[in-house]
Amino acid sequence: MNSDTRAKLEAWLSYFEDLGLSPFYADRASLELPASASVGADLRVRPPLPSRPVAPAPISVKQAPSLFEILDRVENDSLEKIRADLGDCTRCRLSKARHTIVYGVGNPQAELMFVGEGPGADEDAQGIPFVGRAGQLLTQMIEAMGLQRDAVYIANVVKCRPPENRLPEKDEIATCSPFLIRQIDAIKPKVLVALGACAVQTLLAAPVAITKIRGQWYDFRGIRMMPTFHPAYLLRNPPAKPDAWKDLQKVMALLGLKPPKKKL
Ligand code: URA
Repeated sequence: MNSDTRAKLEAWLSYFEDLGLSPFYADRASLELPASASVGADLRVRPPLPSRPVAPAPISVKQAPSLFEILDRVENDSLEKIRADLGDCTRCRLSKARHTIVYGVGNPQAELMFVGEGPGADEDAQGIPFVGRAGQLLTQMIEAMGLQRDAVYIANVVKCRPPENRLPEKDEIATCSPFLIRQIDAIKPKVLVALGACAVQTLLAAPVAITKIRGQWYDFRGIRMMPTFHPAYLLRNPPAKPDAWKDLQKVMALLGLKPPKKKL
């Protein structure tokens, strides 16, 4: 990432801090923002908007400069080149405690890509995203959609485990997320599923509440994006599973996947 891009990324991350949203991501899945932080509101100049129904169509989020505009596409990029550029990364402090860089796994031509937050202990040990308890649930979710796990692509916002599974910090996200964006650009899936608050807020570059925006389609650099709950949240809150399932059914409809025999 060049210094200009980095400065821009830092600017939008600082923007969230200006809004009083610190730490940047307050919860893996159930982030609730002040009422005034609704999508599209310019918090610095306008009073809070009254709540109103959110349109199901893609919503453009214009309140802060976003990753969509900031990052240029890399011509003829590939997952191999991106991995080579990542190297034995020491760009941020997460490299100090990690055992393995968890780059991403799956089909490089996948029509469906899942984005999580960051590796946990199991992922750090194995170098593969979503292999712990949350990963097992994600695998079940994928299979419930009528797909095999190796048919999709899975990656995270940050590629090294945050110590003690803390949330990734904004400078770590600013450093690492450009590699994720390149992975998305290289794979060009038809649908991106953003799992939980960290993934959604990073990709939308907006302090949105996952509970408010899940289940609605967004546009991410020309790709349909569906925000839904993180599997770790679903493990802690099983009653939220039917909502996540509804979100995945929308994805299935768009991809023309057959309804599975069994629900989550
Ligand atoms: N949670 C994530 O967000 N990613 C993983 O890879 C594992 C757990």
